[in-house]
Amino acid sequence: MVEERGIVRLPSVKNKSVFGAAAGVMILLLNGFVTSCLWLSFRSMRFVKNSSFRLLLVLMVMTLIFIVRSHQSVSNPSWEQPTMGTLCHITLSGSIPKSELAALRKKIDAALVNVNRRMSTWQADTEISKFNAFQSLEPFPVSPEFATVVRRALELSAATDGAFDPTVKKLVDHWGFGPESDGDSVEEILKAVGWRKVSLRGDALLKSHPGVQLDLSAIAKGYGADAVADVIRRRGRMSFIVEIGGEIVADGWKPNGQAWRVGIETPDPAQPFGADILESVMLSGRALATSGDYRNFRVREDGTRFSHIIDPHTGMPAATDVASVSVLAGSCMDADAIATALFVMGSEKSFQWLETHSEIEAFFTLHMPDQTLSTRATDGFPLNEREN
Ligand code: AMP
Ligand code: MG
Repeated sequence: MVEERGIVRLPSVKNKSVFGAAAGVMILLLNGFVTSCLWLSFRSMRFVKNSSFRLLLVLMVMTLIFIVRSHQSVSNPSWEQPTMGTLCHITLSGSIPKSELAALRKKIDAALVNVNRRMSTWQADTEISKFNAFQSLEPFPVSPEFATVVRRALELSAATDGAFDPTVKKLVDHWGFGPESDGDSVEEILKAVGWRKVSLRGDALLKSHPGVQLDLSAIAKGYGADAVADVIRRRGRMSFIVEIGGEIVADGWKPNGQAWRVGIETPDPAQPFGADILESVMLSGRALATSGDYRNFRVREDGTRFSHIIDPHTGMPAATDVASVSVLAGSCMDADAIATALFVMGSEKSFQWLETHSEIEAFFTLHMPDQTLSTRATDGFPLNEREN
């Protein structure tokens, strides 16, 4: 899978909250309680006659407790780990015991390895690669996780009239964005492309053409971000932000009690990642994913660009007026796949589609005929003030 980043996290927000103050009061009360207990126990120590010496002892013990405690827990941990050819960034709000954090990181790592092992087309021994190599019409048993993603991918293929289509693998290869390529023509490849050529029977996959191959790169990063978010929630941590290659899930609040905020970058290949933020969005309890033509593309001999996103109907790189589209949805898996689909559809068809899918919000940057960029968003897209 290829790194695709349209989103960056931003350092600050402006609305105030009472949570920071509440946490401070709680800590003060707790410290007061501990101090009283210590004071009482030291008072009962008859062998220490001098009261100033007793006070000194209490202070020393408290300092010791403070040092030990701060060594045992971590505040607002933030880390990154490689996955799916890109990075997963995670930030948690609040203090977490070191041992709990280590266990959580282990679980997250396992979840990401699991997604990679099942859905990467770049390794021959993954579940998807084995399915792709299986040139038979017999049922191919798959793991429940793999079945879940394929099921949702097929539902979203139907919902987007095939603009999103997980069977594009050979086309992706053909246009130079995949791990391998044979010399087949687009016309020949299209015979084995089409989401209707794959079906699920329980947890087994069936091909109706032996040459059908899957590529889940347009949905797997979103699925991975959801999987990491689930691990964090199951461990009782409700304020976090998880990002995999630009696909983001956030919940709760930042460490300072304010809302998480993410930036949408200007889709300009000349700009390094995060250098030019176009808009920012408050994000909590939802997911945001971006597809675009400005990070992963090839240049033709005549100087024109074509992107890694393929129109499954024509077999050609999508001919679209969309430079980038950021989608807000309830799950990152949906946001990821729908962003890819809207990119293929182009703005006009996308806005018609969005009218009948009111649970989805989207922000577009569009190529205009005069070579400039313009922006357009659904009414409910929660844009903030501009950054510049
Ligand atoms: P994304 O960056 O999420 O839009 O995903 C793009 C990746 O998904 C590409 O690099 C391909 O591997 C794959 N892909 C390309 N076109 C499509 C499509 N129309 N539907 C589903 N997956 C696609
Ligand atoms: Mg996608």
